[in-house]
Amino acid sequence: MDFNLVTKLESCFTFVSQNADFLKFVYYSHVPTAILSLLIGFFVYFKNKKDLVAKILFAITIAFSLWSFFDLAIWTRYDSRVLMFSWSLLGILDLLIFTLCLYFVYVYIDKKDISVGKKIVFILLFLPLVVLTPSHLNLSGFDVANCEAKEGQYFTNYYYLVGLGIFFWILAVIIDRYKKAPKGNRKQILLLAVGVELFLFSFFITGYLSSAIDNFNLEVYGLFGMTIFMSFLAYLIVQYHAFKIKLIGAQALVVSLVALVGSQFFFAQNMTSNVLTGVTLVLVGGIGIALIRSVKQEVERKEELQLMASKLAQANDSLRKLDNAKTEFISIASHQLRTPITAIKGFSSLLLEGSYGEVSESVHGALNKIYISTERLTNLIEDLLNVSRIESGRMTFSFKAASIKELLGELRDNFLLIAKNKQFYLDLKLPETPLPEIVMDGAKIRELVSNFIDNALKYTEKGGVTVRVEIRNEGVVVDENGFVIPEKKSEFGKVVRITVSDTGIGIPKEEIPYLFKKFSRGKDVSRLHVGGTGLGLFVGKAIAEAHHGQIWVESDGAGQGSKFMIEIPVVHVA
Ligand code: ADP
Repeated sequence: MDFNLVTKLESCFTFVSQNADFLKFVYYSHVPTAILSLLIGFFVYFKNKKDLVAKILFAITIAFSLWSFFDLAIWTRYDSRVLMFSWSLLGILDLLIFTLCLYFVYVYIDKKDISVGKKIVFILLFLPLVVLTPSHLNLSGFDVANCEAKEGQYFTNYYYLVGLGIFFWILAVIIDRYKKAPKGNRKQILLLAVGVELFLFSFFITGYLSSAIDNFNLEVYGLFGMTIFMSFLAYLIVQYHAFKIKLIGAQALVVSLVALVGSQFFFAQNMTSNVLTGVTLVLVGGIGIALIRSVKQEVERKEELQLMASKLAQANDSLRKLDNAKTEFISIASHQLRTPITAIKGFSSLLLEGSYGEVSESVHGALNKIYISTERLTNLIEDLLNVSRIESGRMTFSFKAASIKELLGELRDNFLLIAKNKQFYLDLKLPETPLPEIVMDGAKIRELVSNFIDNALKYTEKGGVTVRVEIRNEGVVVDENGFVIPEKKSEFGKVVRITVSDTGIGIPKEEIPYLFKKFSRGKDVSRLHVGGTGLGLFVGKAIAEAHHGQIWVESDGAGQGSKFMIEIPVVHVA
């Protein structure tokens, strides 16, 4: 028998048996971390097979597990051939882990593969190690006394130097990408940075120090860095859906618990602890499965919700398209209808005036009905056209300085006859101080106030209508339900307020929020006026808004009369 080998065996055997307690710790640091990381790496890869980042991560965990495997062999085997072989591979695996981490950071943040140039640099840095690993420069011999390999100075220095370089390279990449990233992505980059760098740092520092001071016990602690990295990664996966695995968080947790509890078997010294560990393992496994199931259900529910939300968004989209088509249709149809109706209105007016000869009393009555109906039709078409203009954003305004007093005077004259026929009063109340000119689209404001007066006359059974104008130093602000917000004032300063009040059927409070909406009519109005469309106030609101004004109604309820109001800012004319 080779005497030398016997000595080697003896010295390593003594080492292994003398360090039995520490060796437990060695198992504990190597086995669970390697299994855990490998499992997470495998899960991620398995669920994202086409994803490059997942592939790199899997490669990192494989390299790490190999490293742990060979390192464990060094600690626990006492055959110097196994020792030398395992030891010789550590350097290359070390650098592989570092390089893969750098690759991982690039691809994870940039979401694309790195350039060929960078790959060449990676290979060039790696090449000396591949070539020199089997040589004496790596391990120069075996230290029998300490049961250790003798590490080649240059070789070790080279890979530690490159390792350090890569550590700072990663730091630089992360700082650069962090600065350029939008605010929402920054936390994710930061978490990745802390995870990767803590892992590499602990791995590097403990590895380097143990080589430098020749105390390899230290190295064992560095492995826990991997657990930190995996925890950060699990957080990234769960929180940011870093990979397409939502369940991985729960699964990884359960698997790591099982792995950790399972590793207790290595230290179990008697039957009792073996049984206890077994029972704990079963318990943890059971609870774990329940946890995974519940997470799975929640994930499924979330996915269902997401699906429904996206379907709803699609439906909304097609509704919007339909709505646009409808607006377009109304616009075209109304334009086409306008011409023949103008002709009907014109000819019936000529007939009524007797331009085509005298007509009998009964024909006159029928013609009058035709005339009134066509006028209603014209107003309806005008309203529909206005609505389609508002909805397609084509409503145009021409603002000019004009006199409110004149405008209201004309309107009163127009409606006086109708009011008289119904035996209503129609009063116009102007302020004592003369009214300034207002910058406005006169035709549109006329349409708006005319609708106010028309409605007031329509929805009143007895009494009458008052139109009042006043200049106020501050304007009101109306909320989306059509009520004045008492504590707020308009930002535009001085305003002119026109109020049309009547002694009519009034408006119940709960109807107010709907009145200024499209096609919205009060419940009780058809009794008084059948032909309404519920468009006038909607158009009025758009006109008031275009003037930066407010429009609203106040009423004490059914039968109490109503007050319709509009305020427009007074823009002084130079
Ligand atoms: P329309 O008068 O064609 O129905 P509007 O948009 O002008 O359409 O008015 C919408 C609704 O507001 C009316 O149907 C009615 O219920 C209510 N309304 C408007 N003015 C008055 C008023 N002076 N008195 C009571 N209700 C009114």
